[in-house]
Amino acid sequence: MNDTTQDEGLDADRRSRPATAVVVGGGLAGITTALALADSGVRVTLVEGRPRLGGLAFSFQRGALTVDNGQHVYLRCCTAYRWFLDRVDGAELAPLQDRLDVPVLDAEAKPGRRLGRIGRTALPVPLHLAKSLATYPHLSLAERAKVGRAALALKGLDLADPALDAQNFGTWLAAHGQSERAIEALWDLVGVATLNAVAGDSSLALAAMVFKTGLLSDPGAADIGWARVPLGELHDRLARKALDSAGVRTELRTRVTSISLNENGRWGVQVPGETLDADAVVLAVPQREAHDLLPDGALDAPEQLLDIGTAPILNIHVVYDRKVLSRPFFAALGSPVQWVFDRTEASGLSDGQYLALSQSAAQDEIDEPVSALRERYLPELERLLPGTRGAEVRDFFVTRERTATFAPTPGVGRLRPGARTKAPGLYLAGAWTATGWPATMESAVRSGVSAADAALSALGRPRDHLFELFEEAA
Ligand SMILES: Cc1cc2nc3c(=O)[nH]c(=O)nc-3n(C[C@H](O)[C@H](O)[C@H](O)COP(=O)(O)OP(=O)(O)OC[C@H]3O[C@@H](n4cnc5c(N)ncnc54)[C@H](O)[C@@H]3O)c2cc1C
Repeated sequence: MNDTTQDEGLDADRRSRPATAVVVGGGLAGITTALALADSGVRVTLVEGRPRLGGLAFSFQRGALTVDNGQHVYLRCCTAYRWFLDRVDGAELAPLQDRLDVPVLDAEAKPGRRLGRIGRTALPVPLHLAKSLATYPHLSLAERAKVGRAALALKGLDLADPALDAQNFGTWLAAHGQSERAIEALWDLVGVATLNAVAGDSSLALAAMVFKTGLLSDPGAADIGWARVPLGELHDRLARKALDSAGVRTELRTRVTSISLNENGRWGVQVPGETLDADAVVLAVPQREAHDLLPDGALDAPEQLLDIGTAPILNIHVVYDRKVLSRPFFAALGSPVQWVFDRTEASGLSDGQYLALSQSAAQDEIDEPVSALRERYLPELERLLPGTRGAEVRDFFVTRERTATFAPTPGVGRLRPGARTKAPGLYLAGAWTATGWPATMESAVRSGVSAADAALSALGRPRDHLFELFEEAA
């Protein structure tokens, strides 16, 4: 049989029955892949090891409180995640600010000069930030002027230039006249929260991507959105509902132990007590798990996946007996506190106030005992929020995500594989794959769309709707 006849035979076989796919991993990447494939008529099974969907962005109960494992935000420029929210019918539950407005409290500043704001006007880019920068009290006049110049230099960088990946963002900032204070009070304020690393530990490519897309593309690009409900409501309950109505079979508490290609060119996915058969398999699991599941020859250099480092995020949760914060959130300077969110309503707390402190790039604190964190952070909150001084702390606990994101170190870009592998019918997804974005919900959803696109193309299925996704959400 020549190749053409063989292909025709395979096509005829595929045409006579619906194409099937197994998606391994029920985080945002896997859910997206499953939905995108099912929307194109593929019969999909989604397999998740844990008892819930949502991967790294989930909720759990602590008594009457519904707690997120970590505060999550997204930006208006996150068009893929916004598509996801729409697709699961959750956009109204995680709305965006009308206009970027980040209160920045400096614990060390003199009274009257403690509160600054990062915000925007309706003017075109880059003038939309000019007023905010001109009045930002946490930098000197000279520093503000230099920030403006560096922002313009950043805007001029070509994100397609592969040389940016190996460069260090901190070094680049210093070379562009940024003082330590400017890095702390502005670049890291945004960068640590989005990249999960300080500038000195970040790849220029990823940093430039964040700042160019978020702050220097469209005036509204950095408007912030966050869930007003527990994350589990969006990423588990509503996602499950959308998957069910799209006809996806979802198997929770089911760990995939191995995958292998059969003689007939189909994949066998081993789960305890069963082998699932499929035309296509998408591994939407973290890089280490993907490495362990990949069959020989699927990537040229599979060991590179193990060189992609990880970075931790710590969340500190404090429940007060009264209202101590009148804003929905703020960022802090001059204090170990980074970002503080009011989670009272979302958590279901009816009396008092529940604050979540999101502490990124938390390498130094991730393993510290709760007692030490309590001793450090409660007095810090008293410095920042006078209302806490007479308040009773009803609950104090922490959530630790040691592998919250991949580490955005210089050179990481060349380690991130794309959706396609060398094994036919086997694809990769996950925030850590080559999306160009740092490890975010946006990256996860984008990776899912790319994996579905690659699979649909190989299966000969319609995929036009995938290309419209990001435009629709924009
Ligand atoms: C504390 C914290 C705060 C964050 N803050 C933000 C933020 O503000 N904004 C933002 O955009 N992003 C944020 N992120 C990052 C974001 O949550 C992740 O990038 C995104 O959720 C990753 O999705 P994923 O689907 O790629 O991977 P994951 O969520 O890791 O999903 C992979 C899934 O695969 C499953 N799995 C693994 N192995 C197997 C197996 N063998 N069989 C079956 N299932 C398996 C896992 O159980 C998991 O559910 C944060 C992350 C954390 C932890």
